[in-house]
Amino acid sequence: MEICVLNSGSNGNAIFIASGSTGILIDAGLSARVLRARLGRIGRELRDLSAILVTHEHVDHCRGLPGLAKACPAIQLYANESTAAGVEFNVKAPLPVPWSIFETGSGFTVGSLHVQSFAVPHDTGDPVAYVVDDGSRRIGVATDLGTVTPVVERHLRDCDVLVLETNHDVDMLRQSGRPWSLIQRILGRQGHLSNEQAAELVGTVLSGRLRAIFPAHLSEDCNTPECALFALRAILQKKGCAGIALLPTHRDGISEHLVF
Ligand SMILES: [Zn+2]
Ligand SMILES: [Zn+2]
Repeated sequence: MEICVLNSGSNGNAIFIASGSTGILIDAGLSARVLRARLGRIGRELRDLSAILVTHEHVDHCRGLPGLAKACPAIQLYANESTAAGVEFNVKAPLPVPWSIFETGSGFTVGSLHVQSFAVPHDTGDPVAYVVDDGSRRIGVATDLGTVTPVVERHLRDCDVLVLETNHDVDMLRQSGRPWSLIQRILGRQGHLSNEQAAELVGTVLSGRLRAIFPAHLSEDCNTPECALFALRAILQKKGCAGIALLPTHRDGISEHLVF
């Protein structure tokens, strides 16, 4: 399998995952032009994409969909019903490709990849996260969740690779000078995961199988890559798993391209 986080943060999210001849994107918060350039840096093209799986309708996860669907008319778009409706409302442009609708909690197959969806708490209609596997390797992707539920923990166990939200440092957020209502929204059960919450989740789901974590969706003002890495490194050291790779993601470029 291979994975590359093509962009991560409130300015746009897209994660490329592939196995054999099947390539997918989780979320499409980048324009077709930017996506083509980012994929080019790992030797891939838009036509290598079989499907786009959308997690929820916030525009940083779907604003590229109209352009991408136009550029790739054979692509399949996956979302649950509420997210599909929310995306169409938010992107304010017709999507020339029909949706493949799934029920939250169900699994489906895209080429050689099996995808499992599961519910996460976030302030949209029916937000989900995904675990993707090719029969031997498993990648868990969970960003945009305000709290960790037993369902989240259950699905993220036994993954080889995790893409996990480390949105903010709680002290930096509280001292950010942002409106109190916004701070409460981010800290709330339907907001975003802090570095500490993400580290605690890693401590819970850690297994001998885990080889890499991509800390993702970092706030521009209320976090630093160093803070996120520090929190994760501390839990890995405490659990005796300091060998697990921590691979930074970026608001303006690609992560390491991990092939495993
Ligand atoms: Zn987001
Ligand atoms: Zn969101």
